[in-house]
Amino acid sequence: MDFELSEEQRAVEKMVRDWAAREVAPKIHDLDREHRFERSFLKGMADLQLLGICIPEEYGGAGMDYVSLGLASEELEYVDTHLRVIMSVHVGLNCMSLWCWGTEAQKKKYLVPQAKGEKIATYGLTEPNAGSDAVGIQTTAVKKGDRYVLNGEKIWISLADVADHFLVIAWTDQEKKKNRDHSGLSAFIVERTFKGFSSYTMKEKWGILAGNTGGFSLQDVEVPAENRVGAEGEGFKVAMFALENGRYTVASGATGLIRACLDASVTYAKSRKTFGVSIGEHQLVKEMIAEMVSDYDAARLLWLRAGWLKNEGRRNTRETSLAKWHATESAFEAAHLAIQVFGSYGYSGEYGIERYFRNARAPIIYEGTTQIHKMMQAEHALGLRALNGRGGDVSPLCSWAPALSPVHARG
Ligand SMILES: Cc1cc2nc3c(=O)[nH]c(=O)nc-3n(C[C@H](O)[C@H](O)[C@H](O)COP(=O)(O)OP(=O)(O)OC[C@H]3O[C@@H](n4cnc5c(N)ncnc54)[C@H](O)[C@@H]3O)c2cc1C
Repeated sequence: MDFELSEEQRAVEKMVRDWAAREVAPKIHDLDREHRFERSFLKGMADLQLLGICIPEEYGGAGMDYVSLGLASEELEYVDTHLRVIMSVHVGLNCMSLWCWGTEAQKKKYLVPQAKGEKIATYGLTEPNAGSDAVGIQTTAVKKGDRYVLNGEKIWISLADVADHFLVIAWTDQEKKKNRDHSGLSAFIVERTFKGFSSYTMKEKWGILAGNTGGFSLQDVEVPAENRVGAEGEGFKVAMFALENGRYTVASGATGLIRACLDASVTYAKSRKTFGVSIGEHQLVKEMIAEMVSDYDAARLLWLRAGWLKNEGRRNTRETSLAKWHATESAFEAAHLAIQVFGSYGYSGEYGIERYFRNARAPIIYEGTTQIHKMMQAEHALGLRALNGRGGDVSPLCSWAPALSPVHARG
């Protein structure tokens, strides 16, 4: 067992840490307050090759490994969650899906500019009446000659008003839709410029305020048949595969948020005095810091294990799910504790601690709620569902993500 990061991995970690501290940290308080998405950060991330970090060089990426993707996500969320969300939807949910499921033509046309950061991409599964229950979606794609006509509404979409390309899940088989048979779902690449597409930003949300979250509408949007990703009926597999990769970045990102809470708490606990001593000398304050230390290490080890499995080309559904559940719940707890360490100053915006608290909440909901992950873990333990049990990998770096259904295996 080797716990050392490689030289390349350490370089990625330092590069992202330095960039985020220099370019983002000084501005994030105001951006968050103003609910403003700063587009120049996308350019900065593209310049560092983060937007295609683990996509092969032949497709415009940096060709780095999955641990590097996790390290970048951790460093980005250390400064602000919205930066890691960009990695989750653009790299994890979209680019990696195109890389593993796309045709050569799709990769050339869509993946290459995305991995270079010239185009921004996201993922549209959730709808007003269906989140966890993916087969409850209503969006349809009806084949007409060499095109599909898409109709539907997607909501809670990260980068809805920012992205150029959308990986959209829709029903192509209306009979299967009625029977809730997921083999009637298909995946499509939709461009913002397609006629009948419109998007909006949601203003009423608690956290990730410097990010962009919204929805989009598809009104008779004609999508060329060559934009279908995977075969007809493989949309659910594409969707779950995407979620597993996004989930990995959520786990590593949330780990960064725990560290941000810990670092801020340690600094404050050394300087704030009560009863003649620094608050860090009080046992109950030490306890709060100790809990953050323990959760950080556990979260980091869990996502590193998932990253190692990914690098080995081994299935990691169970491990990634556990890493995501643990890290996101721990990040929320760390933010809660950090507010307590700061006292009333944690409750104000002055130190950014309440931003951590607000930002830590949504990751417990998206990419599989905590309840869904608990269900996956318990069903695996009870032998009701074999999360890593069978089936081959699509590519050496990818595995299946059978989140809410029996295990799927290609072939
Ligand atoms: C900030 C943010 C960004 C997002 N970005 C995206 C995005 O880019 N693309 C996208 O497609 N979606 C995105 N989502 C949507 C997100 O993935 C969904 O909100 C999530 O899947 C949960 O779905 P829901 O909100 O419909 O809740 P529901 O599925 O309705 O769940 C409601 C409650 O019931 C529980 N529950 C549901 N089913 C079960 C069950 N079987 N067993 C036990 N408990 C259950 C849930 O855990 C939850 O507590 C985003 C959400 C947020 C908040």
